[in-house]
Amino acid sequence: MYEFPIQRAQTLKDKPDPQTLVFGKTFTDHMFLMRYDAGQGWHDGQILPYAPLPLEPSAMVFHYAQEVFEGMKAYRTPDGGVQLFRPMENVKRLNSSCQRLCIPALPEELTLEAIKALVKVEADWVPSQPGTSLYIRPFVIATDPSLGVHASHSYLFCVICCPVGAYYKEGINPVRIYVESEDVRAVRGGTGYTKCGGNYAASIRAGERAEERGYAQVLWLDGVERRYIEEVGSMNVLFKVDGTVITPTLTGSVLPGITRKSCLELLRHWEIPVEERLITAQELFDAADAGKLEEAFGSGTAAVVSPIGEMGWGDRQTVVNGGKIGALTQRLYDTLTGIQWGTQSDPFGWTVKVV
Ligand SMILES: *Cc1c(COP(=O)(O)O)cnc(C)c1O
Repeated sequence: MYEFPIQRAQTLKDKPDPQTLVFGKTFTDHMFLMRYDAGQGWHDGQILPYAPLPLEPSAMVFHYAQEVFEGMKAYRTPDGGVQLFRPMENVKRLNSSCQRLCIPALPEELTLEAIKALVKVEADWVPSQPGTSLYIRPFVIATDPSLGVHASHSYLFCVICCPVGAYYKEGINPVRIYVESEDVRAVRGGTGYTKCGGNYAASIRAGERAEERGYAQVLWLDGVERRYIEEVGSMNVLFKVDGTVITPTLTGSVLPGITRKSCLELLRHWEIPVEERLITAQELFDAADAGKLEEAFGSGTAAVVSPIGEMGWGDRQTVVNGGKIGALTQRLYDTLTGIQWGTQSDPFGWTVKVV
């Protein structure tokens, strides 16, 4: 067991109305902080009032983006409790990201305990309206005041939280997505499999271009041949083609999503054929033209699943399942959300109770 010192906020903020919440703009009263210094390791984990971080303008994170993050949620259960969904997966992925960016590994048990301790302190912030949750954002930044291009010798690990409203307020409406043939998100050998800030900075332009064309998200192709499908927006992507669910294999440029993994595990449990393999945009659009593309959806913590109703690629256009959510997509959504919010049993032991 780990005990972290807690410095309580003097005044607590008013809790916002989850109906009108905008994602990622309202933060809770406290945060978790822990420092790393060479020779000392990770030290002095503590819970403090949420406040600005004092950093030198020369702090390395500002210049060379030595930074990694995670995204996870705490869910209010029907008995008034609070639980996390596969949180150790997030901790392990954070460390995998750290390793790629030469950031010293976090002690995994301690990191999970830190997240749980913060959520416990902020338990009143976990909303209870259907579909709402508390979003948790752990991140690590390089803090050495130095412009040399090398790994920092000091870091800050921080966890902040924000209450989020229901992702689907007006029911699940499938989105229009556009195949991006110019910009790429990641390349093999790069940082695509990590959650590092730089990946997202580089993805913004394509997202803006898709939006200008009237699409909600970008369908990313591989960075070498621009043929193979990788992800949709900042979600993994899955397709049901002729009864089989196909998702891009984890080549190193695809983020290993925990929702993706959970979908695959559920599908295998249901004995639905699953293939993790390379799939080209050509194959996908040809399957659609042949009437074999039955369902398409993104997967990620924010939306759980996000059905794709329409796809554009150059001047090719295709509608998926009449623009409606598919039955299997709906089944995955119902099962995952049922487990996450504790309205159905958790036969896989995926949830971790905090309160
Ligand atoms: C976070 C993320 C995902 C989804 O991961 P989950 O663990 O399911 O939330 C997929 N792709 C990208 C690029 C991401 O950043």
